[in-house]
Amino acid sequence: MSVSPADERRVLDAVPTGLWIGGGETSADGARTLTVHDPATGGVLAEVADASPADGVRALDAAVAQQDSFAAMPPRERGEILRRGFELMRDRIDDLALLMTLEMGKPLAESRAEVTYAAEFLRWFSEEAVRISGRWATSPDGATRLLTLKRPVGPTLMITPWNFPLAMGTRKVGPAVAAGCTMVVKPAAQTPLSMLAFAGLMAEAGLPDGVLNVITTSSSGQVMEPLVRDPRTRKLTFTGSTDVGRRLVEQSAERLLRVSMELGGNAPFLVLADADLDAAVDGAMLAKMRNMGEACTAANRFLVHESVAAEFSSRLAARMGALVVGRGTDDGVQVGPLIDEKARDTVTSLVQDAVDAGAELLVGGEPAGGPGWFFPPTVLRDVPAGAALQREEVFGPVAPVTSFATLDEAVELANDTEYGLAAYAFTRDLDTAVGLMERIDVGMVGINQGIVSNPAAPFGGVKASGFGREGGAEGIEEYLETRYVGIRPSKG
Ligand code: NAP
Repeated sequence: MSVSPADERRVLDAVPTGLWIGGGETSADGARTLTVHDPATGGVLAEVADASPADGVRALDAAVAQQDSFAAMPPRERGEILRRGFELMRDRIDDLALLMTLEMGKPLAESRAEVTYAAEFLRWFSEEAVRISGRWATSPDGATRLLTLKRPVGPTLMITPWNFPLAMGTRKVGPAVAAGCTMVVKPAAQTPLSMLAFAGLMAEAGLPDGVLNVITTSSSGQVMEPLVRDPRTRKLTFTGSTDVGRRLVEQSAERLLRVSMELGGNAPFLVLADADLDAAVDGAMLAKMRNMGEACTAANRFLVHESVAAEFSSRLAARMGALVVGRGTDDGVQVGPLIDEKARDTVTSLVQDAVDAGAELLVGGEPAGGPGWFFPPTVLRDVPAGAALQREEVFGPVAPVTSFATLDEAVELANDTEYGLAAYAFTRDLDTAVGLMERIDVGMVGINQGIVSNPAAPFGGVKASGFGREGGAEGIEEYLETRYVGIRPSKG
């Protein structure tokens, strides 16, 4: 059943629209606001506070003030707050999903999947909070005892993108709370509502005031740079584009800030001659179309063995062409709009460039008219190596297929990118699978599966896709420092 305007209004009216500082809402300097739009219609959804640099400092003040007491809270209590947060997210999945669809555009079913995925980070890290431990050893010469212990790194800045408005936040907030760090979160200006709703929810879950502060702003660079350079900030964790990531690493170098970077991707999706083609097409649909292709892990280049390239491409084109495009709140819609006009124009020009370079268009290709930023699911075949589509992150529902003849050629093509986030490979041969997982230069590999994201696994990239890991046993380490204490007994 489609969502009614009254449902939309109720969900929007329930969201805090001020800055979330010190456990409650507060206006921005000069009561300035920024407008949040529905990408499916271009209509106005809400006005939220538009923070100034001084507001940013207020948020950091709140986080710094709470750091010591929060670090001293028993790990079990921190874990139980996360567990209650997980349960509240699960109970409110319908409203959180609707809010996300309204501000970001993805279909309701995908928003529900993201709320579940996002909540799982809270559950996972609620379990990790009580497993932070150290070591005890005797030095090789026997003279000293070596005690190794873990401490929370301290007040952390978190900057998140618009494509997964909740999950990119919870996979930072979850481990930070588990480790005992306070934080200032800055969501993207296009999708601030989900994070503001989440801040209110975590307060209900019992998170002490000032631990989680959220600032929304139309001037992210001006607001965040002073905070990155502030000596009280102890860590910066960023998810977003490689260009902005580079800038933030430069800023953070001045004080040698601890940094985690989850950046862009250009994932290759390999289909070997022996692959189960049904499974490969299913996997391709997931790897390409999750989040309308607006995912850092999205399959960006389909590299298919020449013996199955025609069959794979036509099956993929049939599946892509059958998808229902529309506003994410409407019944049966499988593909929502892109985030904004700029995103739609970028995708349009990447497709046009590939066609001009000689690629064959199998389905889609033309942006839709009318309100909203829609682009149809598109498949291109024989995309030449020089086309921009092979080098750049398309961030849209476009699947370029290229064929290869040998495994070495496939590996060379897969690695021919500055990025190294995710890769997918479909083969029934174990030796081929092992060879690929060892030779493709990425942080995550999906073998015979079109999704790699899992809260229990370390998510992250290499090369220009960044460094640091989110989720898994590794996720909490990003928020901990190792301290060692040497103890010399009076009698050896
Ligand atoms: P973006 O332009 O880099 O923005 C990401 C965040 O950084 C937003 O909150 C943005 O705020 C903020 N920002 C922009 N300029 C800034 C500056 N000078 N100083 C401080 N903050 C700044 O990226 P996006 O277009 O939103 O997101 C898409 C990108 O994220 C893609 O490249 C995608 O691959 C990547 N991504 C990576 C992962 C991963 O885990 N590796 C996951 C998801 C997305 P405003 O937008 O409000 O200015």
